[in-house]
Amino acid sequence: MRYLSTRGGMAPQTFSQILLGGLADDGGLVVPESYPRIDAATLASWRGLDYRGLAFEILRRYADDLGDDALRSLVDRTYTADVFGTADITPLVELEPGLHLLQLSNGPTLAFKDLAMQLLGNLFEHVLARTGRQLNIVGATSGDTGSAAEYAMRGKAGVRVFMLSPHGRMSAFQRAQMYTLDEPNIFNIAVLGVFDDCQDMVKALAGDLVFKNRWSIGAVNSINWARVVAQVVYYFKAWLAVTGGDGSPVSFAVPSGNFGNVLAGHIARSMGLPVSRLVVATNENDVLDEFFRTGRYRTRSAAQTHQTSSPSMDISKASNFERFVFDLVGRDATRVAELWQALERGGEFDLSGSEAFGRLAGFGMVSGRSTHADRLATIRSIHAAHGRLVDPHTADGLKVASAYREPGVPMICLETALPVKFAETIHEALGVEPAVPGRFREMTGRAQHFTLMPADAAQLKQYIAGHCRSAS
Ligand SMILES: *Cc1c(COP(=O)(O)O)cnc(C)c1O
Repeated sequence: MRYLSTRGGMAPQTFSQILLGGLADDGGLVVPESYPRIDAATLASWRGLDYRGLAFEILRRYADDLGDDALRSLVDRTYTADVFGTADITPLVELEPGLHLLQLSNGPTLAFKDLAMQLLGNLFEHVLARTGRQLNIVGATSGDTGSAAEYAMRGKAGVRVFMLSPHGRMSAFQRAQMYTLDEPNIFNIAVLGVFDDCQDMVKALAGDLVFKNRWSIGAVNSINWARVVAQVVYYFKAWLAVTGGDGSPVSFAVPSGNFGNVLAGHIARSMGLPVSRLVVATNENDVLDEFFRTGRYRTRSAAQTHQTSSPSMDISKASNFERFVFDLVGRDATRVAELWQALERGGEFDLSGSEAFGRLAGFGMVSGRSTHADRLATIRSIHAAHGRLVDPHTADGLKVASAYREPGVPMICLETALPVKFAETIHEALGVEPAVPGRFREMTGRAQHFTLMPADAAQLKQYIAGHCRSAS
């Protein structure tokens, strides 16, 4: 498998070559030259596989230069009952006939990001050991990415993590989870700004090729291709779990921010998985919903980004969206480069009325938005009807999904975090706090470690240079 840039300016590379980075050097995102097709017979033959077997089959089609033995051992070490709570890894529960919850949040940090990040930690260690390299990961998080990355990379040889988070904008649980880590290779940086400011600082670094090479800077944010592809696995797993012997379709509802999770659904569908609808659920930060309804993609400034009760979706520039648009415009890299130039210049592009936008229905993507009131109402109604607590992001997904159910097509809602991470909102909805799992109880009292920093890329560079060894 070879990888290209969505903007056409990168010579083809292997999986190992793109693993440690995020962006292509031309500013685009790396994408596979094609999606491997899984025919009905192959899909049927996967029915007996457990999560690891399925992960191996899917990943080997994208990471074909690692070697099957190495990949199998990495996958086997990653997806264990020890790390993810059950041998099933992503158990599925039926809320009512035709409505399912895919539990993706039983990993170490109680959000779905662990599923990809734990694999990434092991992949990084493997590739770094093989090449004798060091890697300094610089990332931006609005909450869940950061903790997932830190718990995946803690103690890994050759890796340091510099994680930027918006100061004062994460939940108390998220803060405690990240900042109480006291590891020599983990650095928490609390930025005086919003998530998009953090992301812009990371992008400024990634765009400085001299700095990037000198300090071996890599990324683990949601543009990392390995993360996206690791997420493809549970779409297949869920389809196999819900359907019988035939090739009947299901739909997925995905609480979305940076568009990484639902992009994985798009890739699964493009590989041949029978998927009717991919429901993109946003919160009040609805740039994606606006695009899917109107064809107009209008990013917002940091000041226009709402701070909501589903904070991991408080995103106004969806960093993975370019990969979907690349497919939507028929993989025309010149067109993508033009669209993103327009976006840089004027903060928007408009595909309404275009031939590309006319093709949207063929991709199964539909969307909706959910508000704070919707979130609370959904948390209450799911609790009343099914005795189950769902977190605010999952509630957004369930709310939007309700508009898109079709007779005879199971709707699978992705549970992207556990409610205990967002206890304030659960309390507001139900008047009770979710129980804190034992392993997290003593965490809240411990000292927190972080460095405050203005939203200034130059200061970030200085800090990184001061805390690691140069690669040259
Ligand atoms: C990251 C995250 C999302 C959004 O996922 P994307 O891949 O960025 O679209 C939704 N819910 C939770 C709980 C998250 O942590």
